Amino acid sequence: MRPDALLFHDDFRLAPYWWDAAPPETSRDPVPERVDLAIVGSGYCGLSAAAEAARQGASVAVLDAAEIGAGGSTRSGGMVSSGQKLALTNAIRGVSSDRLGRLMRESMASFEYLQRLIADEALDADLQITGRFFGAFTQGHFEHLRKQGELLHDKTGVTVHLITRAEQRSIIGSDYYYGGILVDEYGGLHTAKYHRALRGLARRRGASLHSHAAVERIERHGAHFRVQTARGPIEAKHVLVATNGYTGPLLPFFSRRVLPVASYQIATEALPAGLMSALNPGRRMISDSKRNLFYTRPSPDGTRMIFGSRPAIREVDEREAARILYAKMIQLWPALRDVRITHAWKGYVAMTGDKLAHIGEHNGIHYALGCNGNGVALMSYLGQRVAQHLLGLDAAPGAFGEGTFPISVAGMASHWAVPVGAALYKLDDLWDGRARAALS
Ligand SMILES: Cc1cc2nc3c(=O)[nH]c(=O)nc-3n(C[C@H](O)[C@H](O)[C@H](O)COP(=O)(O)OP(=O)(O)OC[C@H]3O[C@@H](n4cnc5c(N)ncnc54)[C@H](O)[C@@H]3O)c2cc1C
Repeated sequence: MRPDALLFHDDFRLAPYWWDAAPPETSRDPVPERVDLAIVGSGYCGLSAAAEAARQGASVAVLDAAEIGAGGSTRSGGMVSSGQKLALTNAIRGVSSDRLGRLMRESMASFEYLQRLIADEALDADLQITGRFFGAFTQGHFEHLRKQGELLHDKTGVTVHLITRAEQRSIIGSDYYYGGILVDEYGGLHTAKYHRALRGLARRRGASLHSHAAVERIERHGAHFRVQTARGPIEAKHVLVATNGYTGPLLPFFSRRVLPVASYQIATEALPAGLMSALNPGRRMISDSKRNLFYTRPSPDGTRMIFGSRPAIREVDEREAARILYAKMIQLWPALRDVRITHAWKGYVAMTGDKLAHIGEHNGIHYALGCNGNGVALMSYLGQRVAQHLLGLDAAPGAFGEGTFPISVAGMASHWAVPVGAALYKLDDLWDGRARAALS
């Protein structure tokens, strides 16, 4: 085990790397007395909804319990997906082929929406479309990825390259995987700069943003809602709940359907010259086929490695997580052995019973929740979509608004469900690891 003094950089921080460039914001402006739309949650979803509703002329207040942007949105890996997760996890089990097609096309639409929004509004977000490599942990996984790649191509038209183990060194400077697939329509952005730019957009269009304004109660009074916040009440015509992995006990309907799960990441110091080009020549997003997958990418400036995984079955503190993630990163890239860690952090993703995000309405309260760790493009898109829907501008709810939002058994028993789920995943990966060892 590498001693802490060598592992952790002198400037080591328990905070997202992204916050160095664009920290979350305190905004204590008084909350308005009444608005057309009150939004609970200031992540990409809440801000996109705010920007869209304000563009349509609605008065909007965004309310957050913490600082503006301190939730999952600025803690993520910033990988911009065109919907692969739907096909590459078993989210699609039990979904009709028709609906799967609609879900995947709408995910593709979210990828296009994000690019258009950033270009049209000149948002400073460091977006780069470099593609994503999905590495196969075993030979069997390689076959599975091949089939899933075909499905992805058929349903969404994305360009999928099959990369054999012999070819993979042109993509990733590692022999850890048994080949994989490369999807061109995939990118990365700077999570906190994008968030800061969305804040600016929402404000320019007239929305007000309020930190430290936890929503404590939402009650219907005739045609309006009374939204009680930690900084006073607001009367609102419409309410949108956009709390994703930070969904608490505010309304049991949501806490029964969303399971918050911690996800951890580290960032390294700037790598020695030439090392990034050797490890990730195309500056791509990289993840793999394990249950407890590795996901990694270069920082947008190409200098540092950002690496994420689940460190343990139970939740651990971020410093402990950093030690474990470092050991995992070295499995993938032994050449990073002497590199120090500058940042370690965690955030909460929202898992749902059917592994799908949902938009809809419950007792007149609108929601967009449950991105299952795939929210940069999707929650931005669903936020603006739900805003159009609640203002009556878009009658169709879209594929993520179809069907029921099932109760999550795990969500109702989160104290045991997350460790049990993580243990099962670990068993699965151990089993696959034995298969790997037997073959090598
Ligand atoms: C470590 C990590 C890595 C990830 N990596 C990726 C990735 O690479 N690619 C990808 O696509 N997705 C990724 N995700 C998922 C995704 O980016 C986010 O979860 C997503 O951006 C969620 O956005 P959101 O707006 O729905 O919610 P959030 O950004 O999580 O915001 C929810 C907000 O609600 C607030 N809130 C909760 N309750 C209340 C209340 N009662 N009153 C007021 N405010 C309240 C919280 O304070 C929080 O700020 C990752 C997530 C994490 C945590």
